[in-house]
Amino acid sequence: MNSANISLKPEISSSLDWGKIRADFPILQLKIDGKPLIYLDNAASSQMPQQVIDRLVRYQTTQHANINRAVHYLSEVATLEYHNARCKLQQFINAREDREVIFTSGTTDSINLVMHGYGRKFIKAGDEIILTTLEHHSNIVPWQMLAEEKGAKIRVVPINDKGELEVDKYEKLFNERTKFVGLIHVSNALGTINPIKSMIDFAHRYSVPVLIDGAQAAPHIPIDVQALDCDFYAFSAHKLCGPTGVGILYGKATLLEAMQPFKGGGDMISSVTFEKTTYNTIPHKFEAGTPPIAAAIGFGAAVEYLTAIGIECIAAYEFDLLEYATERLSEMPGVRIIGTAAEKTAVISFTIAGVHPHDVGTILNQDGIAVRTGHHCAQPIMQRFNVPATSRASFAFYNKKSEVDALVAGIKTVQKIFL
Ligand code: PLP
Repeated sequence: MNSANISLKPEISSSLDWGKIRADFPILQLKIDGKPLIYLDNAASSQMPQQVIDRLVRYQTTQHANINRAVHYLSEVATLEYHNARCKLQQFINAREDREVIFTSGTTDSINLVMHGYGRKFIKAGDEIILTTLEHHSNIVPWQMLAEEKGAKIRVVPINDKGELEVDKYEKLFNERTKFVGLIHVSNALGTINPIKSMIDFAHRYSVPVLIDGAQAAPHIPIDVQALDCDFYAFSAHKLCGPTGVGILYGKATLLEAMQPFKGGGDMISSVTFEKTTYNTIPHKFEAGTPPIAAAIGFGAAVEYLTAIGIECIAAYEFDLLEYATERLSEMPGVRIIGTAAEKTAVISFTIAGVHPHDVGTILNQDGIAVRTGHHCAQPIMQRFNVPATSRASFAFYNKKSEVDALVAGIKTVQKIFL
């Protein structure tokens, strides 16, 4: 259940004081109805360490002003800190240039930016867009809207019974009409890590650009956009111990320059008359209006925090947790794990025979255990496995094995009540 393609640092990971790291997260001290919070909903949103909270407070109390628009002290400081945040994100994903990092409101916004900026300009009637069964709705619906508008066609890569992409079938979908690929790096519903590097290389043989939805990958495994050679890469801060309301779109500079703007307004222009507007250079061309300045600075602090621990160490710790949780849940009669790919992040989707997932979530909540239940914005996956919904436990590096034990005990309580 390990990933040959991902560098892990188990030796360093085991020497880290994970209990001390956990203590950075004040919310984990909460009690829910007198029971300690066991937060296993990290794929939906992760929690924020004190270091990031402190950074937000420092910004709001000593550095806040609007950016790019004044020569006064605070505006200059805020502009510089916003730029520094962009550079931290650039380093985090090893982008070649800071102007290749665009702040958006999150993954969904990033994907919509590519659809409007690239898709509406370059995709034509009869063209084909390849997506996969594993996509989150945010990497399906925008492309369907585009396909409808342009008369283009969506082709879908199937998955096997373990929840792995059928890569040979992906390759067979390519032809001269293929013009775009949208590919999820790690499935939010199943945890499957997709072999994106070889899939990107294959698309490039046909000169087809590839957008990677990295919302569930960036928090858990190292990302190097130059090594991947992806054309676009998107993720959100709130799944990386950062604030809500901000994310990034990485795009290769040449592509971003060729694209049309998505939103019009202040800061994205270089000159405006009623006859004609000329646009600013990247990244500003795609950042119309006042951006989420505070959130972007918090995002910068969050990736700095994760980098200080080491994403490879986080990956090693979480793989260990996944292995333990998989072993424990697999032993339980009536529990079916959905998504058993050879390469996974620490996400376990499961069903309990005879119990609706919403009831599972409700009973676990009574023990202070937070899991997500539903279709996880991935209805095609639910259809593939013929289930209406699942319960999903998704782990972060501040979770511990005793919390897996509590989940197992909680599931036993559910079974006692319903069966
Ligand atoms: N893509 C994946 C794989 C996700 O898991 C999510 C959120 O759960 C999104 C996209 C959408 O992210 P956001 O809601 O932050 O835009």
